[in-house]
Amino acid sequence: MPLARIGLGSNVGDAAAHVRDGMAALARLGSVTAQSRLYRSPAWGVTDQAPFINAAVLLETALAARELLTALQALEVELGRVATYRWGPRVIDLDILAYDDACIREPGLSVPHERLFERAFALAPLAEIDAAYGAAYQALPAAERAAVVAVP
Ligand code: ADP
Ligand code: MG
Repeated sequence: MPLARIGLGSNVGDAAAHVRDGMAALARLGSVTAQSRLYRSPAWGVTDQAPFINAAVLLETALAARELLTALQALEVELGRVATYRWGPRVIDLDILAYDDACIREPGLSVPHERLFERAFALAPLAEIDAAYGAAYQALPAAERAAVVAVP
């Protein structure tokens, strides 16, 4: 069975709750074999934004990568609807960070995720549950790693 690495993120409303809901919903797409702790990182630039909460899971799934993307997008819509914000930003972001060792560069689908290796908030949770990403995480600047903190 293929192993997908999924990244989750939210910074709207109860972001931690949205990420936990996302983790629970992913079990519908296969078998969740590992899930990271939640990580918080401050919003930068627009400083009145809520901090981001991110996490990662390992998902054994029978879905092909493109089918998985479609399923994740449906879950984003479904989870967004539980929020009270009409027309508001998405409350949950679900990304395919990696899918087995696949290298996909198609319109609308890049695997590994195009920005995975520059994002501490994606690599910190992923490295926690998949040692293969430890080196990539350690390669990030210390200041960027320090900004992403596991939620107690
Ligand atoms: P972010 O890069 O912050 O996750 P979005 O979630 O808004 O930004 O990006 C959505 C778009 O990214 C979708 O239209 C989707 O087709 C595309 N995309 C490309 N590769 C991936 C991937 N590996 N996982 C999720 N979305 C992807
Ligand atoms: Mg996304």
